[in-house]
Amino acid sequence: MSEEKVISVDQTTLQMLDKAKNEGLETAWDRKVAQKAACGFGSAGVCCRNCTMGPCRVSPVPGKGAERGICGATADVIVARNFARMVAGGAAAHADHGRSIVLELLHASPNGAIQVKDEKKLKKVAARFGIETEGRDVYDVAHELAQAGLRDFGRQEGHIVLPPTVPAKRKEIWEKLDIVPRGFDREVVAIMHSTHIGCMADAEAILKMGLRCGLADGWLGSYMATEFSDIMFGTPHSRPTEASLGVLEHNQVNIVLHGHEPVLSEMIVAAAEMPEMIELAKSQGADGINLCGMCCTANEATMRHGVKLAGNFMQQELAVITGAVDALVVDVQCIFPALAKLSESYHTKFITTSPKARITGATHMEMDEAAPLKTGIAVVKEAIMNFKNRDKSKVMIPEAKTKAEVGYSTEEILNKLDGVVNSHIGPMQSTKPLADVIVAGVIRGAAGVVGCNNPKTVHDEGHLEVIKGLIKNDIIVVTTGCAAQAAAKAGLLTKEAKELAGPGLKKVCELVDIPPVLHMGSCVDISRILELVGMTANQLGVDISDLPVVGIAPEYMSEKAISIGNYVVASGIDTWLGVVPPVTGGPEVVDILTNRIEEWVGAKFFVETDPHKTVEQIVNRVNEKRKKLGI
Ligand code: SF4
Ligand code: SF4
Repeated sequence: MSEEKVISVDQTTLQMLDKAKNEGLETAWDRKVAQKAACGFGSAGVCCRNCTMGPCRVSPVPGKGAERGICGATADVIVARNFARMVAGGAAAHADHGRSIVLELLHASPNGAIQVKDEKKLKKVAARFGIETEGRDVYDVAHELAQAGLRDFGRQEGHIVLPPTVPAKRKEIWEKLDIVPRGFDREVVAIMHSTHIGCMADAEAILKMGLRCGLADGWLGSYMATEFSDIMFGTPHSRPTEASLGVLEHNQVNIVLHGHEPVLSEMIVAAAEMPEMIELAKSQGADGINLCGMCCTANEATMRHGVKLAGNFMQQELAVITGAVDALVVDVQCIFPALAKLSESYHTKFITTSPKARITGATHMEMDEAAPLKTGIAVVKEAIMNFKNRDKSKVMIPEAKTKAEVGYSTEEILNKLDGVVNSHIGPMQSTKPLADVIVAGVIRGAAGVVGCNNPKTVHDEGHLEVIKGLIKNDIIVVTTGCAAQAAAKAGLLTKEAKELAGPGLKKVCELVDIPPVLHMGSCVDISRILELVGMTANQLGVDISDLPVVGIAPEYMSEKAISIGNYVVASGIDTWLGVVPPVTGGPEVVDILTNRIEEWVGAKFFVETDPHKTVEQIVNRVNEKRKKLGI
């Protein structure tokens, strides 16, 4: 047990790991142990296999051992190229996610499965692309907007259309550094080109390319994915849900949605609500259909429908190990290939749906883009028909379940803020009340806690310790991704959690009627955080880097998280990483990322694996920013 305690702070995780052990099943934690000590060259980022003269590995210690690869690339060049390729990989994932959302809007129709649900948001987004909306058919506008969005993915000349939330001072900084993104796909291709053998061999220039690519992710790909999803599936509003592996039900057909793109979850939610599906489930001996989610698909579905949160990244195998999952349905990103083999130990149908993420051993039911609801119905049927195969003797659902409040889109936050504005004095629908309490020092600042789980850290501990430490210090927290699920499971997404907050934040929570930790959605929804921060900076007439605002990824693991870190820092927000990135072998790269980059963009990376020290550093940094602002 003492060994297990260092694995996770989540009790259901420990229970399921015990079950896995008893049943002789392997999880990611076992595979981590099997990897033994990680390669020092890879960990420091100093191995390169960008051509077949290599692989080369150079010494991470300057002046010792091989100092250059065969082509002459130095440790800093190799580290910077590897880092930039991680940014490109992460940005590409968000690009393809965003693109498929935009394509959905292109094919939306009044009688189809995909419709325009939020006309107000459609008009708002269309306006910033310069699209006329007055007196026009909603779907004509939607299709024109989709075309405009697609142009920015493949734009060859000029720059992308930046949202009005980017403060003017920020734009100037990007222009001066020449990091305003051109087309999104172009920025990814540019990195892959320039990191090819014999191209860029200047760490500083390579890292600037990474910043530009990251910005295309944050302020275009992810931004559009969020906005266009809201247009089609509805802008989220606060609603209750429940979290933890205990949300699985004994007498219902359990369908776990895992992955990222909301179209899959939307179609399955629609199918599972059909009376004929519920009847079918009953005919198979179940009481009904229980939908729950993992990772970002869970975040999308819970923000809009209150779908329950089964768990986060490191718990995906544990859901199967409960023995109660009738179908685990996935699309793209963060899906362990190990699920295919693991599912064979139970009755669980492991269903892939995207041509972008085929997994050997899974049942593939490809999403029919022309008729997505059909696929949703087929998948739900498959799950229902599998219910009778559940072996009750193998089922163990943890008792724990926690209440949570989700659905804090920017729009919902503005609505809540309206509650404390005197409508005679106004203005309504603005971030002024938030700016006011920050200026007054009632809350000291704001923090975005985001990102994944990583078996290098104690599961969920980093997220929870950082969040609790920040709210105690009157720093309001917004959260997305797997960090949000950690918070949900621990009860931090409730209004009662205000008791853990400092006196100022507690008062604000009471007045505005919100929890101290706001669930803002999935990883692409970090764009909602950018939007809110940009609006607050504009409200105060300052740049984002002037605000006492920080970003933290306590347990990140994915390339997407690296891309996110890049655009958050490039946007002027200091970013703390709780896992050391593979850059330590490049002294110049480390110096740029944790020091010199601040001269460029007004923010930098901090690497700190101890969550308590992270909180301390953030509080100091927030106080420094406040002092500089004269507040
Ligand atoms: S690009 Fe250079 S450092 Fe990389 S593998 Fe080829 S020769 Fe070695
Ligand atoms: S937070 Fe990380 S692990 Fe979780 S869904 Fe997003 S990228 Fe994947």
